Amino acid sequence: MRFSLWAVGLMAVASGLSGCGKDGGGENAPGPSAKDLVAADVATFKKMNDADLVTYDGNNNHIFSKVFGGASSQDLINYLDLRVHDYAFKSDLSVSSRGLGLMDGWADSGPHVIALNYGAQLWLEAAIEGVQALYSNRGAAPVEVTSTRVGLIVLTQYYPQLQSLARQSILLHEARHSDCTGGLPKSNIVKIKEALRQKDNEAANALFGRCGHAHVICPSGIYSGMAACDSESWGAYAVGAVYARAMAANASTK
Ligand SMILES: [Zn+2]
Repeated sequence: MRFSLWAVGLMAVASGLSGCGKDGGGENAPGPSAKDLVAADVATFKKMNDADLVTYDGNNNHIFSKVFGGASSQDLINYLDLRVHDYAFKSDLSVSSRGLGLMDGWADSGPHVIALNYGAQLWLEAAIEGVQALYSNRGAAPVEVTSTRVGLIVLTQYYPQLQSLARQSILLHEARHSDCTGGLPKSNIVKIKEALRQKDNEAANALFGRCGHAHVICPSGIYSGMAACDSESWGAYAVGAVYARAMAANASTK
């Protein structure tokens, strides 16, 4: 699996769901589309009290506004809109992979995966192979993934099982993977391709830098050995946590 480290690096993991996937099943279930599910989650942003958020932000070194560009519900929506183009279940997707094996990593993602930002992954692999990355969601017109900001968040069957706050935090987490912070020079892409050819995933991952904010293997703890840790201060888990903590603090004051 030449791309395995990156492939499992763009996901959200929930400790409460360990082992839930052992009974198998598809990635989706009959019912609302991924877009419908997310629309309901995003709609709850709009019910937030912005004044509470501003107060929280002011009391916490403006951490919220530094991450999300402001301390209002609209800033959260803007954060997602800037980074996410589409939401899908895997079975709704048709990907023009051109033999790149873009779906191969999915099976290795394990039962812990709730969502992953497939757009960033598509863009990167297409850039490495020098091809065009296209996908279609539910038979809609093909979308070309021209940058990591054409985020395509794929939800698994575990996403609907979570409470709304966890789902919102995961959406913001996944959106962070659309940021190619610091850029990715073409010279690095050439080196990444060579590193992957030599099956040196560690070297390849190092060359990504902060582009995509991929996770690294956790050295210890309950996720030891899994690519479920941030290696930097403001990775995807941090972004999700800033939101979750703000909501928890807000709830506790009511
Ligand atoms: Zn992630």
